[in-house]
Amino acid sequence: MVELPVADVSRDPPRGPDVLTRLGVRRFARWRYARLALQLPILALAAFVIVDGLTGRPLAPRNVATTAVWLHYRGLVVLALLIAGNLFCAACPLMLTRGPARLTKRLLGHELRWPGLLRSKALVVVLMLAFFYAYEAFALWSSPWLTAWLAIGYFGAAWAIDVLFPAGTFCRYVCPLGNFNFALASVAPTQIATVNPTVCDDCAHKPCLHGRISDLPEREARWRDAGGELRGAIDGPRRAAFVPLTEVVAPNGAGRFPGCETGLFVPQLTSNMDCTLCLNCVRACPYDNVALRLRPPWREVVRDGWRHRGRRWALLMGVMLAWWGLMNAFAMVPAFFAAAEAVSAFLGTRAEWLILALLYAGVSAVGLASTLGASWLADRVARGRRADAWSAFDRWGYVVVVLGAGFWVAHYLFHFLTGALAILPVFEHFFAYRGLALDPNWRLAQLVPSRWLFPIGAGAVTLAATVALIATARIALRDFGVRGIAAMWVMGAFVLLVTVLQVVLLGLPMEMRGTLLGPLTGAP
Ligand code: SF4
Ligand code: SF4
Repeated sequence: MVELPVADVSRDPPRGPDVLTRLGVRRFARWRYARLALQLPILALAAFVIVDGLTGRPLAPRNVATTAVWLHYRGLVVLALLIAGNLFCAACPLMLTRGPARLTKRLLGHELRWPGLLRSKALVVVLMLAFFYAYEAFALWSSPWLTAWLAIGYFGAAWAIDVLFPAGTFCRYVCPLGNFNFALASVAPTQIATVNPTVCDDCAHKPCLHGRISDLPEREARWRDAGGELRGAIDGPRRAAFVPLTEVVAPNGAGRFPGCETGLFVPQLTSNMDCTLCLNCVRACPYDNVALRLRPPWREVVRDGWRHRGRRWALLMGVMLAWWGLMNAFAMVPAFFAAAEAVSAFLGTRAEWLILALLYAGVSAVGLASTLGASWLADRVARGRRADAWSAFDRWGYVVVVLGAGFWVAHYLFHFLTGALAILPVFEHFFAYRGLALDPNWRLAQLVPSRWLFPIGAGAVTLAATVALIATARIALRDFGVRGIAAMWVMGAFVLLVTVLQVVLLGLPMEMRGTLLGPLTGAP
């Protein structure tokens, strides 16, 4: 048997019902090709995006690239996150580059170690900022061609990182989309956990983490003689555990079952951070001991869930996402253009790239400073003595992450509900443009009446504010006992202030992007 590093087991799993036990979900999840079955439809969609983006009509509301990516994909991502969890990482077609990447890796003969300096969310924060900036600067929502190239670039980057570095590196340390999902999944209603934690105590080789090899008896005997290693595979420092088929509870086929590529160990999971919901752990566990449990939306944030997943940088990413979410929506309202004019007049320049950069820098600085300030003040009043702003940020940053999640949900739902049905005529147009006798019905667009949009958005941020207030109270009592009541008032006031700002922003008339109807007049 291969000697594998064994992680300590510490337990605080969610105890809600196991979603996998319902409606045959466990059977599907244990199936070797379950992830592929989820990925193929999204891969097909990506193919439409690239083909129409590069060769279709370059008109955003009529092109699959711009409508599918900027309207439907984003709306469905947040809906899935709210209802079930990080389903879009589960179905991510970029991971289909892993097969070709493995082949290339074999040809190269070795892989590199991801630099220690980049083993945090620092690079992701930079890439996210670059993406949000590029989104505004290059009007990505209005360019099918750029959107298609973005998709191609994404596939290329995932492949290249996978060729050079261990599998999972791209998801954990590079992918802005995946990390956006990880951050929002902090309030998702599900989390991977054990069915029975005591089973893990007797599990010698932790296949959920390292992967498992189980095979037909004669091949098993050969591997056993060879020390249980899968020879010829380049698998980095981690090796799969060899578990004979006869020891597997509820066998799910023979062969190699990869473990968690982002290095998560099921019995020690405290959050959804870095969990792509790939369900590798479900398939690799020989004892069928992995569950997907329901949990309250504040559970992860009141338990300092990211403390073992690069807490400070992960929190910085989550907090900045909250402020960049406001900036992203702000860039759609008339006040933004007035602000840009004011900056332009003040500096005496019409250089849009500079004005946009300054506006982003300003919002980032104000957002971070106000979060640090409110956190520091909350700690200060609870302690009654000096407080360290960054330690306070580690405690209270989660509250702002929740507010950000609510606002992203509200914003993306606004777009989705306004243009969801447009996907039908846009696909009809895809084929009509290429010669098929179809007559797209361009009247199809909104899923709900316009007058519902604001209440739905305001409802989403109000719900998030409620979760943030619950989190505030729990964190305060957890860390300061009764003295935490004073801290609660400080952070509670900050939560309400940010929520009011969010609701006001949602109430302003928004310029529609990449939708069928063109600019929306009047408040949504
Ligand atoms: S493989 Fe299964 S039993 Fe073993 S540690 Fe992981 S979850 Fe527990
Ligand atoms: S293998 Fe890792 S990333 Fe995949 S579902 Fe399990 S814990 Fe999450």
